[in-house]
Amino acid sequence: MSLDRGTRAGMLAAVERFTAERVAPRAAAIDESGELPRDLWKEAAELGLFALGVPEEYGGLGRDIVTPLLISELLARGSASFSLSFNNTTDAAVPIIMEGSEAMKRRYLPKVAKGEMIPCIAITEPTGGSDMAGIRTAAVREGDDYVINGRKMWITNAPVGDFFTVFCRTSADRHKGLTAIVVDRGTKGLTTGKAEPLIGLRGSPTGEVVFDNVRVPVANRLGEEGDGFRIGALTLDESRLHCAAVALGVATAALEHALAYAKERVQFGKPIIEHQGLMFLVSELATELAAARALWEKSAGLLTSDHSRRTSNYAAMTKLLCSDLCMKVTTEAVQIFGANGLSRSYPVERLMRDAKAFQIYDGTSQIQKWLIGRQLQKSGLPYGPLDPSVAEA
Ligand SMILES: Cc1cc2nc3c(=O)[nH]c(=O)nc-3n(C[C@H](O)[C@H](O)[C@H](O)COP(=O)(O)OP(=O)(O)OC[C@H]3O[C@@H](n4cnc5c(N)ncnc54)[C@H](O)[C@@H]3O)c2cc1C
Repeated sequence: MSLDRGTRAGMLAAVERFTAERVAPRAAAIDESGELPRDLWKEAAELGLFALGVPEEYGGLGRDIVTPLLISELLARGSASFSLSFNNTTDAAVPIIMEGSEAMKRRYLPKVAKGEMIPCIAITEPTGGSDMAGIRTAAVREGDDYVINGRKMWITNAPVGDFFTVFCRTSADRHKGLTAIVVDRGTKGLTTGKAEPLIGLRGSPTGEVVFDNVRVPVANRLGEEGDGFRIGALTLDESRLHCAAVALGVATAALEHALAYAKERVQFGKPIIEHQGLMFLVSELATELAAARALWEKSAGLLTSDHSRRTSNYAAMTKLLCSDLCMKVTTEAVQIFGANGLSRSYPVERLMRDAKAFQIYDGTSQIQKWLIGRQLQKSGLPYGPLDPSVAEA
């Protein structure tokens, strides 16, 4: 079941206020500190944001896929870092919701819903993230336990996370040899490093997780042995739309800042927006952003109604378009601000630094192109004539 329209609208209005009053004024300080703002996290929990996406029987507000994505876009207009920390929590709960045993759902989901536990997803390794089937972290079965050895890198929320869904190798088969296993912080042999100092998204702590003979019960496995690649791929479709939503939020904020500045800043005796070169630039960016938003809405609709290969293809196209466009819009916003754009006294340099990561995490832009191209090769274009249902609207 999902939220009714009234609850969803009320929640989005509350998030818009929370973003404007609490998150946006702190964005530069969050970026500067490089730390997760625990007080804002608590406030977000009190608003019920982490309960979205968690089924009601496990203490949530219902398995609503789209509302958390809409919230992420709103939060990202204030602080992309905070938005990523929030949305990674929603995404990282998905494997347990999809494939966890009843006992695991009862152990983790109520606390995730209350914001009392931070989940993480650990796929990427020092040897690479694009090739998920190349995972080396090994889980070896010993009686009723798995013993895990390996190292994961660039894991969102790792320094503050309470449990990790770890994608491990359980056999040599590239795809069917992967298994997802949940490991709690505090388990002997698990250590996390400090947050990596990144150029952007600095308030979303990202770091390594090391497994040195970590022993966990077989009951911590999600699904069957060998299901890891499938679980990872399904989770990524959702998180790619999440990444795209954050990118849209950041791009929209950048364009709003740029427009406001261009209306105020005077050169050659008139506001710079009245110079055609600049007016055409903002017109083009606004048009591209409108197109990207429409594609995002189409993909989000597909994700809720029919999670098929076509949906995966749309998720990849949306992630590619929105993340590349966010990089373009934020870079042009810096250009519109001139030298002020490079200054930390204005917000657009931070937005440009944040934007770069969207082209990298949840699969790089090249990997999205590869996924889209493979589907084009197999099944052709994923669309037919224009949608006749628009005539009914
Ligand atoms: C802010 C942030 C948060 C992250 N959070 C998480 C997380 O929570 N969990 C997690 O598991 N990972 C996380 N990651 C890691 C992220 O998913 C990986 O960085 C990403 O998948 C790319 O892997 P890589 O960095 O190892 O680059 P590589 O895979 O080494 O790729 C290097 C370059 O080669 C290109 N390339 C690779 N293969 C191909 C190909 N077949 N065709 C064309 N080009 C190719 C890539 O596009 C890239 O440009 C995060 C990363 C960042 C930056």
